[in-house]
Parts: sequence; C-alpha cells; structure tokens
Amino acid sequence: MSAVLVVEDEQKVAHALREGLEGEGYLVALEHTGEGAFFRATTETFDVILLDVMLPGRDGLEILTRLRERGLKTPVLVLTARDTLDDRVKGLDSGADDYLVKPFAFAELLARIRALLRRGRGGDALRLAAGDLEMDIVTRKVTRGGRLVELTAREFELLQYLLRHERQVVSRDTLVHDVWNEPVRSAPLDNVIDVHIARLRRKLDVDHPVKLIHTVRGVGFMLREGEPGEP
Ligand code: CA
Repeated sequence: MSAVLVVEDEQKVAHALREGLEGEGYLVALEHTGEGAFFRATTETFDVILLDVMLPGRDGLEILTRLRERGLKTPVLVLTARDTLDDRVKGLDSGADDYLVKPFAFAELLARIRALLRRGRGGDALRLAAGDLEMDIVTRKVTRGGRLVELTAREFELLQYLLRHERQVVSRDTLVHDVWNEPVRSAPLDNVIDVHIARLRRKLDVDHPVKLIHTVRGVGFMLREGEPGEP
C-alpha cells in the first residue's frame, strides 16, 4: 500500500483529498502547515507527497527547497491555484516532480500520482549508497563495507555531493558553488578541494581494492565503482 502525505491548509479540500485517496487504497497522512509537513516528511517515509503551494507561514515551495536540501528524494506533486509559467518554473526549480493546477479533476490527480509512483525517485530518500559505501543523511553516519568512517562536516558535504552525482563528472567549479558556497573559483580554493578529496580517498578507498573516488583529468572528479569511462 502506498503512503501519501497531503499538505493542504484548506480543511475542506484536505479532507476531500484524504477521503478520495483512501477510497483508492492509499494510506493518507494530512498536514496543514509547511512546518508540519517538513517535520512529517523528514521523520516518516512516504511514497509521494502532495504539496499545496499557498500555505500559511512558510509556503510550499520554500518547504520543498528545504526538503530537497536535506536530501529528501520522495516524489512531490505540487498543487497550486496559480498557473503562470513563472510559478511552474519555480516549482520545478524547487524540486517538484510534477505540477497540478487547482481546480483539478480527481481522476487526473490519481493518474499523476500513479505516474510518480511508477517513476519514483528511487529507494530510501535519506540514505545514499554506492557499492558498499553507505551514507545516512539523518544520522550523518557513513560506512564502507560496514565499517564506520569518521568525516568532518565538510568532508561529509563533499561526499554527499559526489554520491548524489554518482557516475557523473563533478567539476571543481560546481564544487566551489555547491559545496563551498563560494561565488568564484580560485587557486587556493582548488587546493582546499584537492586536500579534501585526498582525505576522502584516505578514509574511504585506501584499504579497498575497489576505488570509489576518481580523478577525471582536466575536468574534475567522479564517484563510482569502477573506472570512469567503463560501462
Ligand atoms: Ca492553500
């Protein structure tokens, strides 16, 4: 049975959604505020989240951005009364997987939910893994081959970024922006990045025959089992 979190502040709409979805065999949880939704989504597991944009306090997109920053991968269908290109783009930029404009037909909502469930975002949202390397975003525990790996805060962020972009080349420019939050790249910063990559290698790869962190010469780095360029 699939679990759906419905975030909607209008009681009538929320209850109609719950009734309709339960009638279709979904397990439904309701939240009426962005804060409530954030707490719920980070402490329980859902298969899909229906998120109204217009909420009292922090709006739906703000909450969604924070959830994605936290590593939540649950598919999110944004519900909104507005339909402008700008809002659509904002919604998708915030990490929405799909977008439905109110008022919508219930059959359409069901079709969208089924599509998201089929597509998914893959597995448990708050745990990342590559080969025998595992990272728990909530407890911030990292293990390789079951052995605990101690990381500094920055090493953790760097490894998380590499894991989220597994099998993709990650350039120094993107690390400067996305992990170090610096606007421009500089030679000293490149050195800092190299030092952190070297430390991650020492902690993760040195005792293992299968290396996970690779240098892609002249471009950047890649996390994967096996050499970059292999199928
Ligand atoms: Ca609303």
